[in-house]
Amino acid sequence: MSEQKKEKPATLRISSDVAREIRQHACSYHKTEVCGVLIGTKDEAVTSIVACIAGANAAQGGTHVTFTQDTWEHIYKIKDRDYPNERIVGWYHSHPGFGVFLSDHDTFIHKNFFSSPQQVAWVYDPHSDEEGCFGWNGELLERLSKFAVVDRRGGELAGAGEKPEPTLSGSGSPDEWEDAAPAKSEEKDEDLSRLARTVSFVFSHLAVLILGGLLVWYLLPHIVILPVPVDPQTGQPLREYQISPSSDSKAPNSDQGRSNAGQSSGQREPSKPAETKRRNVH
Ligand SMILES: [Zn+2]
Repeated sequence: MSEQKKEKPATLRISSDVAREIRQHACSYHKTEVCGVLIGTKDEAVTSIVACIAGANAAQGGTHVTFTQDTWEHIYKIKDRDYPNERIVGWYHSHPGFGVFLSDHDTFIHKNFFSSPQQVAWVYDPHSDEEGCFGWNGELLERLSKFAVVDRRGGELAGAGEKPEPTLSGSGSPDEWEDAAPAKSEEKDEDLSRLARTVSFVFSHLAVLILGGLLVWYLLPHIVILPVPVDPQTGQPLREYQISPSSDSKAPNSDQGRSNAGQSSGQREPSKPAETKRRNVH
């Protein structure tokens, strides 16, 4: 028996909800220790923590927590009401600012109240956010080299092999590791799809604007500006480029223009297109 235990220390599983609850309890008293008991099941190899009960009325003198008579009464009242089929599989307490270890006083508590082979002591330091767990290895209380933080969906009764569970060294912060990874990738996906939506929105509006602009340009009358070469000496447009606008403007009063033209034959080019035009009409 004892040989087996040395080869394979008790495997511990703790629900991520319980780990979070312990942290919250510890953080609500940032300067004094808090304590409570761990509720769960245990079989030959595995201790599973599924709930915890905060130790109300626990004497919190200085750096030591003590399970008083009142504390136990409170704990058993809640356990019998809410967890009649589970067992007390250990205890937890906080070490605000002085790290994760078991003091002599903690060892005393564990030996006196949690002496079953698979009962464990969970310690959390709210200042450094470090947590660890200690259990029996034969006659010795040792820090567990690893424990599994189990997501609620995996369930404490899911059993091994149904779903791969993260196994971490006790010194890590398992809950963060477990919760943060999927959340981050989801966030990234959301960012990407948001970006894609924005880009397609902008491009579709641009396309509509361009199409509308082209349509308006074709349908409505518009002015086309053409470059006309100008004689650098006179400042007048060169002969071959001045036909259309001048002849058009002179066409309506071409009769007057003709009589004038007859008198002053010395008049220059502008009259000429008008005459041509008249000739064409005949
Ligand atoms: Zn302690």
